[in-house]
Amino acid sequence: MNDLAFDTPPNALDAFWMPFTPNRTWKQDPRFVTRAKGMHYVTPEGRKILDAISGLWCVNAGHCHPRIVEAIRTQAGQLDYASSFGLGHPAAFEYANRLTAVAPDGFNHVFFAGSGSEAVDTALKLALAYHSVRGEGQRVKLVGRQRSYHGVGFGGLSVAGIGPQRKHFGPLLAGTSHLPHTHDPARNAFSRGRPPHGGTDFADALEGIVAAQDASTIAAVIVEPVAGSTGVLVPPAGYLERLREICDRHGLLLIFDEVVTGFGRLGAPFGSQALGVLPDLICCAKGMTNGAVPMGGVLISDRVAEGLNAQPDGTTEFMHGYTYSGHPLAAAAALATLEVYQEEGLFQRAAEIATPWEEAVHSLRDAPGVTDIRNIGLLAAIEFGPAAGGGPARAKAVAAHCFESGVLIRATGDSLVLSPPLGIGKDEIGQIVETIRGGAARA
Ligand code: PMP
Repeated sequence: MNDLAFDTPPNALDAFWMPFTPNRTWKQDPRFVTRAKGMHYVTPEGRKILDAISGLWCVNAGHCHPRIVEAIRTQAGQLDYASSFGLGHPAAFEYANRLTAVAPDGFNHVFFAGSGSEAVDTALKLALAYHSVRGEGQRVKLVGRQRSYHGVGFGGLSVAGIGPQRKHFGPLLAGTSHLPHTHDPARNAFSRGRPPHGGTDFADALEGIVAAQDASTIAAVIVEPVAGSTGVLVPPAGYLERLREICDRHGLLLIFDEVVTGFGRLGAPFGSQALGVLPDLICCAKGMTNGAVPMGGVLISDRVAEGLNAQPDGTTEFMHGYTYSGHPLAAAAALATLEVYQEEGLFQRAAEIATPWEEAVHSLRDAPGVTDIRNIGLLAAIEFGPAAGGGPARAKAVAAHCFESGVLIRATGDSLVLSPPLGIGKDEIGQIVETIRGGAARA
């Protein structure tokens, strides 16, 4: 069966400028999928591909879940759009209530956005507004971290720590500093879960930034609790706790970008709950709607909400919002998604399967070229670094072999990153691991 719906002469692939994709090389060997169900994509030729990265860290409940599909269909026929600028519709309010009920204690408000990038920029602006409203308008600087990804808005890009992504875009936001990343293969290679070494030392770098910048000029620190797209960099034990402590000591807000770690990835609704450290703002997206409709949001702690006087005059203090904030289709998809997570017990399943997952991925330790393995919850990275003659090209080659063998895995830098749907079973885990083993032997 070939159900690719259009002809593909060479120039048919020119108009769509694909994100973060080298179109010229991609179109020499284009890769398409046309359908998906559960854990699998289907190619135009009818080949089933096991999706070991949940779309792009988002399809946590599996593809085309019938409940979510039906909810979107029904909502589209009932109310397609209503501007949240003063006009309410039930799905957005209902979802906000349900979401804040599963959020960490003390997070009772949510600001909706259309993506992870928008969520991050919303959170950064909330932090600045919070200080400004409270009479500390000099707190405008932001602290990010090396090897972090926070989307592609000017704010998110400024606090992110991936040099090549900043190229061509000038100096970005003034006053941003970066903590060191926490990847420390010399001490922590092949750790399971949270690495044992260096947590407080890495976090103490924040004291250095505070000393150099003057604490009273800094608004917030933003980190991914576990850096996802730069290679699943799990924070060493004690790291997040120490960051929280330093932020409190100096009056800085702590923002967790949970675009990847939210919605069950670490075995709890949010990574902050799984890791036991609470920030002041939580960015989320991706798993919010199971990837089916674009949506993001910022969960706002009571402290920040009260500081901003969120009810009833918040909007006059925080002039911000998107045409699609709380979009009916997104809200309906998010409601159905949360119900699926809860009724199918998917957060719990992720917590339970995390140990067999850890065992399985660490069994790759002896596969050719593997220089590190990292895991937490249902995340993992298999590194093919220079210490064994590897690097990004090798990681890419292994991922390509895996795709040929029916498993979709993402290569990022030297590593393969894995984030399967939360309902993954032991057989599928076995298939992923053995496919990587085969790919490593061939690459
Ligand atoms: N933050 C993190 C941690 C992410 O992983 C991503 C997306 N990979 C984003 C923000 C940006 O999300 P989006 O692509 O939806 O804008």
